[in-house]
Amino acid sequence: MQYRRFGQTDLRLSVFSLGTMRGLDHPGTFEATLERALDLGINHIETARGYGPSERWLGDWLHRRGRPQNLVLTTKIPPQPSREAMAQLLADSLERLRVPTIDCLAIHGLNTPEHLTWVQDPQGCMAAVRQAQENGQIGHVGFSTHGPRDVIQFAMETGLFSFVLLHYYYFFQRHAPLIALAQDLDLGLFIISPGDKGGMLYTPPEALRQVCQPFDPLFLTYRWLLSQPGITTLSTGPACPEELDVLTELAHRTDPLTPSETAALARLDQRPAATLGTDLCRQCYECLPCPEAIHIPEVLRLRNLTLAYDMQAFGEYRYRMFENAGHWFPGRKANRCTDCGDCLPRCPENLDIPALLRDTHNRLKGPDRRRLWDD
Ligand code: SF4
Ligand code: SF4
Repeated sequence: MQYRRFGQTDLRLSVFSLGTMRGLDHPGTFEATLERALDLGINHIETARGYGPSERWLGDWLHRRGRPQNLVLTTKIPPQPSREAMAQLLADSLERLRVPTIDCLAIHGLNTPEHLTWVQDPQGCMAAVRQAQENGQIGHVGFSTHGPRDVIQFAMETGLFSFVLLHYYYFFQRHAPLIALAQDLDLGLFIISPGDKGGMLYTPPEALRQVCQPFDPLFLTYRWLLSQPGITTLSTGPACPEELDVLTELAHRTDPLTPSETAALARLDQRPAATLGTDLCRQCYECLPCPEAIHIPEVLRLRNLTLAYDMQAFGEYRYRMFENAGHWFPGRKANRCTDCGDCLPRCPENLDIPALLRDTHNRLKGPDRRRLWDD
């Protein structure tokens, strides 16, 4: 296992971190996965208040076996409108984890301008976090986010945080400028779930496999991330110990990309333009805002991936989240388009956006759910 400095926290983290959002069917599987992670040299375990029994099961395991030396623990708590609410949630998490202190606390889902106002209020939720730091209950403070780039940049520049948990993947490079900014600010950089949210790469479609040959898509895209020295660690969220096997080789690979890896990535790069031709959305975001609150670039990103790499299942998985996940995945479904035409003159690619949105909706809306009363 390779280790990297986690920005200004000065912690040294394994280049893979164990996320504990999955594997929650049985405590035995959960604990076997934790043990396997330690065997591989992973020294950072990440949980969250919102991950079902994860904090409690992790706490039970730590209590029984003793907290391994040098193990870095992170938990996450959503931003709160008041100091009192945050103080209570912090106390709850420490009680479930059965530890007097955690190394890192991340504000979980700093996604909106309203959340920014909460964390900037000197008497607000961050006052409780600072108090816990002064009491020695928390080491370092960061945030995770699913928000737009301007919200993330603002949060990074507040000076309140020493690390950030970010969505940034080979198939979603919108946040590349934030990677550079994190390096400038010396923030630790943790990439959220590249195997799953980065494209459901544990089960890649055959077309994607073919383009990546001779590499596995998960391996190649992990390599792409780890070849960037500003990135500290990638979260992996296995459902069972066997899903960590892929790391046996990767955990040692932080060297620059090899010529054959670079060639495979070049084939990946060329594929969307070759497949989509003049229908390719280049993700410039110039078309926003849409008066119907359709997240046009994200809808068309899913269309790009579906057509270029046959990532249909991933497209459906993410498309289903529009109108179903609040500020965690903002935007309305593509069939809300009223053909108002506002976006059209802003698109430098002259795309027929309403037509492409309709096409995407039809491709990715998935099967209509049968209603019980249809029987
Ligand atoms: S044409 Fe459709 S997608 Fe474009 S701005 Fe109008 S409603 Fe939004
Ligand atoms: S302006 Fe055009 S190319 Fe740019 S993100 Fe919007 S639809 Fe895509």
